[in-house]
Amino acid sequence: MKSPQLRERTMILSSGRCAWAKCMYCGYGKLKEERLGGDALKEQIDNFFNGVEPGVDVLRVYVSGNVTDRAQVPVETQAYMVQKCRGFGIRTLLVETLPQFVSEKTLEPFKGSGLRMVFAMGLECYDDALRAKLQKGFTRADFEKACALIRANGWGVKTYLLVNPPFCADVKKDVDDSVAYALKWADEVTLINCQPHAGTELHAMHERGEWKPLDKAQFFDATKEWLSDARVRYDATQYAPFPSWKSWLPQFKEQTPLVGTGGEFLENEVYDRWQKFICERYVVRDERKTALFIPCSYTKPYINGPLHRAIWRVLDSFDAEVKQSIHLVVISSPGVIPIEFADYYPFNAYDWKPWEETASIKEAYTRVTKKRLVDYLKAHKYERVLCYFTMDAESYDALKQACNELGVELITCLREETWSLIKDEKNALTRPEALEDLKGALTAVRA
Ligand code: SF4
Repeated sequence: MKSPQLRERTMILSSGRCAWAKCMYCGYGKLKEERLGGDALKEQIDNFFNGVEPGVDVLRVYVSGNVTDRAQVPVETQAYMVQKCRGFGIRTLLVETLPQFVSEKTLEPFKGSGLRMVFAMGLECYDDALRAKLQKGFTRADFEKACALIRANGWGVKTYLLVNPPFCADVKKDVDDSVAYALKWADEVTLINCQPHAGTELHAMHERGEWKPLDKAQFFDATKEWLSDARVRYDATQYAPFPSWKSWLPQFKEQTPLVGTGGEFLENEVYDRWQKFICERYVVRDERKTALFIPCSYTKPYINGPLHRAIWRVLDSFDAEVKQSIHLVVISSPGVIPIEFADYYPFNAYDWKPWEETASIKEAYTRVTKKRLVDYLKAHKYERVLCYFTMDAESYDALKQACNELGVELITCLREETWSLIKDEKNALTRPEALEDLKGALTAVRA
């Protein structure tokens, strides 16, 4: 049972795919991730624990499949996870699994750990016939057998139930029967509002008008019988699975602002970890066909600075399709920063003071930035690469050098004639003439 004092964290591992992968409603089972070895998974786990503050009691681990499946999470990784939890004083470790993966052998790495283990299983519904239609691949008897084995080890069980699954004739009765049954075996039940994940058979049913999800009010109406039961939790809006690269997002417990110019404020472990993630794990969304490289802003987050606000005003003048095709990427002292990370540490907490730059700092900035841009453009292929910089900027110089080296055509949105008119102005890129150039360049790309 959940205590309000417990501090919980969730770790999503990305490795391989669900061994079953047949549930007709599940988008997670459709994910085909690279199957990772122990070292890469250890790196993911270490990255996660970098952001875990002291005092966490419960860790939940999901892998879009089965943490107990040794093909997906090698046994040495399971043991490493247990060891990490012990080191961090975590008392309860919850891992997701199918009943098929609960056996004396698969439970072995968790025995004698001193942790309270909880095994989370998606039972989905009480009725075996309905579960078979969902292609879940196990029966109540399988579930009960797994629960008995978990209990025999003194551990806990959590289960998930789908509210309003397809083929369900009476949602309210299904919820009530399922929760009543599940609570005989599980300490805790989460009721999930069934959603049409992309690429699933359920999604196709939804498209054909053969099934539709409940809205929030309908969901809470169907589950109201259990609202006061502390063992029952609710997930009313579980949408599509998030991209697997998020499992690798760099985590930092210490978030000290990085303020200074040159040396350690150009190259350090925090920036290096981000650049590695951005070039090796992060995936640019398919519709982002055009990269638009832009400067940072002294004001953080960037969107509060006058230049970024002006650029967004230009983008807002285009229709949604054009806007979605343009990927803003900032070039700054921390490196190459896709705009979606602008609010993450340290990109929201650093200051590099241009007025403190010396010739050697500028040289180092250009050299390091050029290398980062080469790595970025090798990892992420755009149909077009544009930029909007003042022509004397080191970032512009570094970008030109990187594009030259890679044979990438670089389209400069600021025209030379405009630059010669505005180059002595403060905040030159926010001048109307310059922004007209940007708009013109984006219009030309669209045409
Ligand atoms: S619901 Fe679980 S078992 Fe079924 S496909 Fe999805 S991840 Fe696999």
